[in-house]
Amino acid sequence: MLIVMHPDATEDQIKAVLDAITALGLKPHPMPGANRTAIGITGNAGPIDPGNFDYLPGVAEAIRVTKPFKLVSRDLKHEDSVIKVGDAAIGGLDLAIIAGPCAVETRDQTMEIAELVYSCGVKFFRGGAFKPRTSPYSFQGLGLEGLKILDEVRSRFGMKIVTEVLDNESVDLVEEYADVMQIGARNMQNFSLLKRVGQARKPVMLKRGMSATLDELLLAAEYIMAEGNYNVVLCERGVRTFADHTRNTMDLSIVPAVQALSHLPIIVDPSHGTGRRDKVIPLARASVAVGANGVMVEVHTHPERALSDGPQALLPDMFRQMMAEITAIYRVIAEARPSPRE
Ligand code: PEP
Ligand code: MN
Repeated sequence: MLIVMHPDATEDQIKAVLDAITALGLKPHPMPGANRTAIGITGNAGPIDPGNFDYLPGVAEAIRVTKPFKLVSRDLKHEDSVIKVGDAAIGGLDLAIIAGPCAVETRDQTMEIAELVYSCGVKFFRGGAFKPRTSPYSFQGLGLEGLKILDEVRSRFGMKIVTEVLDNESVDLVEEYADVMQIGARNMQNFSLLKRVGQARKPVMLKRGMSATLDELLLAAEYIMAEGNYNVVLCERGVRTFADHTRNTMDLSIVPAVQALSHLPIIVDPSHGTGRRDKVIPLARASVAVGANGVMVEVHTHPERALSDGPQALLPDMFRQMMAEITAIYRVIAEARPSPRE
């Protein structure tokens, strides 16, 4: 059920609807939009009778939601969501660039890469302190020590920190150090972790699972939002196919597909999407051209020594080149667009 309030509904009228929803033992999710507030309802086992609400003052319509997802849907919020991260944002008019190493390996390695990406205008620094590795014998990340290094990057450069949270036990710790908590592809359907970060206050970047459909991705985001955390960014990072010329197959068509159904921002990760550094720049260009709200890439000053994902890390000159190219593409598209998407 979705309740659409009149554009001139008062705060008191909105509150009365929220109270009526709560009184039925359900959970209201108010979403203020540019013209009117819509209120999503979750917690119901079966259909809800619109007659419970459509007589209340200020209510324009009570609509049954037929799609499997509610809170992520454009039916609930027509305008694109902009996820604010301090004085930066993902979504809206700016192209968000998230860059950094796959993993925080040492303080020196991290600072060197941070200096490089910062000098290119990057606002979001990435780096894993907890790494999901296929083999238990591979480097698992520095844990707390890695988070402390990321904290130093934030203090020194002012970049926002995007870092992965692997399990429920470490959500509190990661939330303390991260500006955006990343849920990796392998955890996209870890429903207890999704609910747990849904109770957290920091924004969440949700990566598409390796074989996840569009609906599965949106429903995973729905898990987070249903708990009350509406600050979710989606990320396409490639899916498994028979193709073996790249590590994964980037599915750029999911970007307009998400944008048609959902108000959430979506970014693209061509590093994991291709797995090979020579393919990252072309796919980063394509990601911007297809309309993504941002790009996330891995960068390393000495990829031959990297403890994870060295083959896909951009070298410094390549990163500078990518930034110049995608900024130019973004500008051309923004100038040609008839009116802002926001
Ligand atoms: C990552 O971004 O570091 C990562 C592990 O990505 P994914 O979950 O997409 O494999
Ligand atoms: Mn990686």
